[in-house]
Amino acid sequence: MVREFPRTGDAGGELRERVAEFVNHRVIPREPELDAGGPAAARILAGLQDEAKRNGLWALPLPVELGGQGLPLTSYAPIAEAEGVSDHGPAALGSSTLLDALMLHRHAAPRVRELYLERLTTGRIRSAYAMTEPETPGSDPLLTETRATAGPDGSWTLSGRKWFTTAAAEADIVTVLARTDGEPGDRHGLSLLLVPTATPGFRIVRELPVLGTGGQWEIELNGVRVPADHLIGQRGDALAVAAQRLQLGRTLRCLRWLGQAERAFALMRTRARERTLRRGPLGDHQLVQQHLFEALLAIRSTRPLVHEAARLIEAGRDAHIEVGLAKVAAARMLQHVADAAIQVHGAAGLGPDTPLPGLFRMGRMARLLDGPDELHITSVARRVLREG
Ligand SMILES: Cc1cc2nc3c(=O)[nH]c(=O)nc-3n(C[C@H](O)[C@H](O)[C@H](O)COP(=O)(O)OP(=O)(O)OC[C@H]3O[C@@H](n4cnc5c(N)ncnc54)[C@H](O)[C@@H]3O)c2cc1C
Repeated sequence: MVREFPRTGDAGGELRERVAEFVNHRVIPREPELDAGGPAAARILAGLQDEAKRNGLWALPLPVELGGQGLPLTSYAPIAEAEGVSDHGPAALGSSTLLDALMLHRHAAPRVRELYLERLTTGRIRSAYAMTEPETPGSDPLLTETRATAGPDGSWTLSGRKWFTTAAAEADIVTVLARTDGEPGDRHGLSLLLVPTATPGFRIVRELPVLGTGGQWEIELNGVRVPADHLIGQRGDALAVAAQRLQLGRTLRCLRWLGQAERAFALMRTRARERTLRRGPLGDHQLVQQHLFEALLAIRSTRPLVHEAARLIEAGRDAHIEVGLAKVAAARMLQHVADAAIQVHGAAGLGPDTPLPGLFRMGRMARLLDGPDELHITSVARRVLREG
């Protein structure tokens, strides 16, 4: 039995320092090449991954049995902030596979685990997750139109279209949400299936640039046939499996956004100190001080919400309200802090010489991905009303 988040052991500040140093000095300098994608980026990422393994920084939150270092979620949380300072940090340090690795470990058939799990956690293959569809609202997965039908030999044939599937073009396996029974709108009948992207009928349709940057893809499944054991969990179990990974996934994202907001804040503070007007540094001006104050307030008031969500997940407790609060707060916070940092930089903040446009873009995307703000707001409010 794997202890996914063992309670023993403390990451300590030293490990966090080492991760921060790795991200700052090894990953961040390679960001322009990594952002460009393609084979060159893949080679650079593989080199960083080897270096992380040699330095004992690989796969810190993954269970020991899956080749990780088994850090408890609450010990890993401050490290996740440090990893997330660069969008490429989690992949370089082997923690970006956590959700898929846990999902396969808990819910995949033994042969499927054998086929993919070790290759995934060692960085030899990559994965993606495809729920959202062009023609149906992603906020309501019950309306999913992609179909998977069982053949006489038990194999599954999938047909449908997905979009905004992050990293689909580089992925070797994609987890696909499909309807195996019932009709769009039914609560039952949704299942998750693992699709190797080399299977005939799997096609990358196009890239979907988001505010000018790549990494999101539209895909088509045209009679894609996968073996019976590529069903993840039980038939009709998709929503339960997806909910499990989404809770942890949203919390991990929030931790990384805290790291990115700290990066924007540090740039804003330096700019306020060093940019000088006729009467002295920008930071002497009260309106600039207010930008700094509000940004710091946003970071410091969001952090406890995110760490509380992590604490409840680690304890195996219901964390719906806490994850919803954290997700909305962290997305707003990153967008706000990056926006303030851009403002203090003037035009330079929108240009190519700082990471601020990318951080702002992430803040804007954060308010939609893993469910739009409205979904979390209404879901938290309904629970609060019920519980009261
Ligand atoms: C950068 C990025 C990466 C992504 N990566 C992935 C991925 O890897 N895999 C994947 O499957 N999906 C991914 N997505 C898709 C994302 O999860 C969906 O965009 C999101 O769930 C919303 O679905 P939708 O876009 O279909 O919007 P819709 O469901 O059509 O909603 C549109 C708008 O309607 C409003 N709305 C929706 N529900 C409610 C409600 N209950 N109450 C009030 N208003 C509401 C909100 O304003 C919402 O923004 C990604 C998206 C982005 C932007």
